[in-house]
Amino acid sequence: MDRIYLSPPHMDGIEFDFLRDAYESNWIAPLGPHVDAFEQEFGQTIGVEHAAALSSGTAGLHLALLQHGIGPGDSVMVSSLTFSATANAVVYTGASPVFVDSEPASWNMDPDLLADELEDRATAGKLPAAVVVVDIYGQPADYDRILPVCEEYGIPVIEDAAEALGAEYKGRSVGGFGRCGVFSFNGNKIITTSGGGMLVSDNAAMVQETRFLSTQARDAAPHYEHSTIGFNYRMSNLLAAVGRGQLQVLEERVEARRRVFDSYVDRLAALPGIGFMPEPPWARSTRWLTCVTIEPGEFGATREDVRLALEAENIEARPLWKPMHLQPVFADCEMAGGDISARLFEQGLCLPSGSALSDDQIDRITDIIATRVSR
Ligand SMILES: *Cc1c(COP(=O)(O)O)cnc(C)c1O
Repeated sequence: MDRIYLSPPHMDGIEFDFLRDAYESNWIAPLGPHVDAFEQEFGQTIGVEHAAALSSGTAGLHLALLQHGIGPGDSVMVSSLTFSATANAVVYTGASPVFVDSEPASWNMDPDLLADELEDRATAGKLPAAVVVVDIYGQPADYDRILPVCEEYGIPVIEDAAEALGAEYKGRSVGGFGRCGVFSFNGNKIITTSGGGMLVSDNAAMVQETRFLSTQARDAAPHYEHSTIGFNYRMSNLLAAVGRGQLQVLEERVEARRRVFDSYVDRLAALPGIGFMPEPPWARSTRWLTCVTIEPGEFGATREDVRLALEAENIEARPLWKPMHLQPVFADCEMAGGDISARLFEQGLCLPSGSALSDDQIDRITDIIATRVSR
């Protein structure tokens, strides 16, 4: 049987027309007309005024933090349930991450816990320099509860929407809630350029500065003049061409991922001990990955039993992100709460969720879970 991957790239065909144009025009560079057009079309799609195309989402997070003056001696509060890139970007600047647990309703940063923590830190005179909120697995965080708390203390919010392109919070696209938002086009994301990222903001100066910093910070001069340390973080014109094609089918991809999620619910929800990632009333998740929780006492097997049973049939499933506060590399970092994300990791499994996944493939997966693992 062919391997079923967790979240493989899903090309449409139109990418190839853009790519051919990029090739034939000889714009084989980390700039060019497709980069400009991709930025513009991307901003329009999500309703944010300005966008800068980058080599990765991680690069976007790094530049976002640097532009908020984050550096050695600072702390930055970060959702613990995330991919390491969110926390790594904080460390690149020399600052220290402080992790915040999830709320059960969305699995994103718990706004009450954040409020308590900020109050304590304000009293102690050690407020964080920024808060990075993650929209996990395509689900928006609860911005109407997070933003006012941060505003109260004048703390900027940066949105890590790497997994959530196409998601909406109360009818508005994610990415535009913080001072800036960051997306990823890595190969496993909802649309892809193989690798790439985008920083978006309504602040024109910040996006302009992002373009400057991501192209080695060259001052305006005929020779190479530098008064700042720059980075080589810009997106290639070839990859932007792919991205333009992918962006045209974004809504179809979101619909397909949501359909995949619903199909799993139809086939598995009746099994004892199986739960699904919730979707709060204010959220339209993209269901980037279908996440289930498996309570071993009720289900009769652990999430690891299920994962191994699927792997034995050449099907890729993965545990949820291991929270950052449980990672050896961040063992010395501070943490607010922790039980919720720890239990999600213990019981949570991401099932194959590609937008091209067929009903037959979903049947193959759910049959294994329903008949071979549970008893
Ligand atoms: C993928 C991802 C990133 C990093 O994006 P890259 O483009 O792979 O650098 C950052 N944060 C989260 C939550 C992600 O899932």
